Amino acid sequence: MATKRDYYEVLGVSKSASNDEIKAAYRKLAKKYHPDLNKEPDAEEKFKEVQEAYDVLSNAQKKAQYDQFGHAAFEQGAGGFSGGFNGFGDFQDVDLGDIFGSFFGGGRRSSRRTGPTRGNDRSASISIKFMEAINGKTIEFPITYDEPCTKCGGTGANSSSDIETCSHCNGTGSVRTRQQTIFGTMETNTTCPHCNGTGKIIKNKCTSCDGKGYNRVKRNVEVKIPAGINNGQQIRVAGKGERGSNGGPNGDLFIEVRVERDSRFERDGNDIHTILEVPMVEAALGCTVEIETVYGPVEMTIKEGTQSGQILKLRGKGVKDLRGNGQGDHLVHIKVITPTKLTNEQKTLLERFVELEGKKPNRTENLFEKIKRKLKN
Ligand SMILES: [Zn+2]
Ligand SMILES: [Zn+2]
Repeated sequence: MATKRDYYEVLGVSKSASNDEIKAAYRKLAKKYHPDLNKEPDAEEKFKEVQEAYDVLSNAQKKAQYDQFGHAAFEQGAGGFSGGFNGFGDFQDVDLGDIFGSFFGGGRRSSRRTGPTRGNDRSASISIKFMEAINGKTIEFPITYDEPCTKCGGTGANSSSDIETCSHCNGTGSVRTRQQTIFGTMETNTTCPHCNGTGKIIKNKCTSCDGKGYNRVKRNVEVKIPAGINNGQQIRVAGKGERGSNGGPNGDLFIEVRVERDSRFERDGNDIHTILEVPMVEAALGCTVEIETVYGPVEMTIKEGTQSGQILKLRGKGVKDLRGNGQGDHLVHIKVITPTKLTNEQKTLLERFVELEGKKPNRTENLFEKIKRKLKN
């Protein structure tokens, strides 16, 4: 499979584009590539690409996931559930009656038809080691959730002939009731008490779920933690959130990843920082050192004349980008160490060094040296 293009690139918008900008870009491109209007051979492919990009970027939750994980965000989806795009869906039942009712100030409908509603999302957290975040890891995560009953397909009925339209509400799920108030008789819609708003009556219950349409299960679900994940980022596990109602899909489970610290490395985004202490003489003369990176030791050359505070870069030895945009660097901060406790011979050599530069040594003498000099004179 060809690598997927960046969704922002597909729509030709910047990452900070507003909803309106995203929508406008989508409309323009959808029109341009619509297979009915565009007869180029790759128009349909392009149209689908645009559609997919818009699907994600126009949905706040999906967009946030994409911004964090890139295409990998939609490659999760463990267990028997559809991951990726099918995991979400706009099942929110909007009852137009309610909206009109409140707009026109009348009606005062107290009930709404209960359609399929997606379950709420849930959250959890896990803690992983620093190196596990660098390399990625697949974990078994125990999750307790309500799984739609496979035997009855979530209907709760033993067979399809056991599902009947509720005769009380004629399958609408709500009934009109009259109430006497001080304003006169008012009609209100209430949830049908016979079918609890589903509009259906189950004659014989499914034996596997006892008519509930779902079973509470505890499973170890495989969760893929992508290489490069950082502290505080979340992984979405599709369909493992709270149960949906009336045939609506489950919500998703968001697992927050907490990354433990490592005393050897400091991470900043995708870059790794370490401090390297270099003895003064080696900094002056140059040397080869072994640097421990997150991918193991590598050799690095310290050029002669290296200064304290200089930052040397080991390109590509940082963290893999979650979105697949290359890799960070490993930055080595040089700290030149001045020797302490020099022997007299070493001091003499250093003084000789200064003299070779045509200067007079001007060092602080210790008490012993002072006395020695005084005695000489
Ligand atoms: Zn069942
Ligand atoms: Zn009913």
